[in-house]
Amino acid sequence: MKIETTPQLDFHNVLIRPKRTTIYSRSEVELEREFKFLYAKYKWKGVPIIAANMDTTGTFEVYDTLSQHKMITCLHKHYNLKDYQKRFADNPLDPEYFMISTGIDESAMSYLHDIVALTGTKWICVDVANGYMQQVVSYCHKLRVCFPNLIIVAGNVATRDMVEELIINGKVDGVKIGIGPGSACLTRLKTGVGVPQLSAIIECADAAHGCGGFIIGDGGITCPGDMAKAFGGGEDFVMCGGVFSGHDENPGELIEEDGVKYKLFYGMSSEKAMKKHYGGVANYRAPEGISILVEDKGNVEDTVHQLLGGIRSACTYINAENISEIYDKSTYILV
Ligand code: 5GP
Repeated sequence: MKIETTPQLDFHNVLIRPKRTTIYSRSEVELEREFKFLYAKYKWKGVPIIAANMDTTGTFEVYDTLSQHKMITCLHKHYNLKDYQKRFADNPLDPEYFMISTGIDESAMSYLHDIVALTGTKWICVDVANGYMQQVVSYCHKLRVCFPNLIIVAGNVATRDMVEELIINGKVDGVKIGIGPGSACLTRLKTGVGVPQLSAIIECADAAHGCGGFIIGDGGITCPGDMAKAFGGGEDFVMCGGVFSGHDENPGELIEEDGVKYKLFYGMSSEKAMKKHYGGVANYRAPEGISILVEDKGNVEDTVHQLLGGIRSACTYINAENISEIYDKSTYILV
């Protein structure tokens, strides 16, 4: 057994120290970033915020608002080919602003071929709860052979060794970071495993950038300030579930309790999700997600404005002209 004694940080453990600034107005801050990729042959320009591929947030309806702001929606993997066909017949999506997600079972490969051919998406997200499995690396490598030009991301992991492994041997462009920080997640309680998310981002960004890749910090964002701190830690993209839940655009009926309206948001490994998609919880596993009643937040457009306004304001406090400068200009204060 070994003990690591360096303190590991979550978002609430730090604040960003204000600095003398020449940015007079929030409107001067540029929120779009342009990326080139290690393997994929595309360039991408947009606001580097992604709605999580949970079946409550990674939906066509959330996409309809986020894409207007050049933000990405990672569509959940329970949309089948028919769902995509129907949506594309009516109203095709912009291939820049959605990701398709997949697990690592072999049947997923033909699903991917079909959806890529139909939609022309530029992004594939290989998403498994435990990205440390060797099978994830070999699966990603196969995907790279099939889709040499697409932007492939995989996760989740939370340490540098596996970031390097996925980028170098899995041939992914980006790695999704987060073991246990999610708002509907029980992993840390059920297994004792996890890494505080801000430290995971700092370590994994350094590892990914060192080998030409990027990271998506996934989970644990509760407010715009957390996003600013995450960008300050070096993440390239931020992925959020809970923040994008509870709106008119999210699926499910409003539930009224004591005069207050709620919507249900649940982890993709929760009992609710497993019953919905797999008919129940397999007897060798315990749910690692919970269901939460989220107070009705109205329109997702309002939430987007709050998030973008918060990031703009953070930038003006530290003299950052754009999101990538938040990293250069951030000094954290331990609180
Ligand atoms: P949030 O933004 O809500 O804090 O975190 C969203 C992330 O939580 C998702 O992108 C995903 O990585 C993770 N997540 C979603 N459902 C579950 C679950 O049931 N269990 C665990 N451990 N993580 C989950």
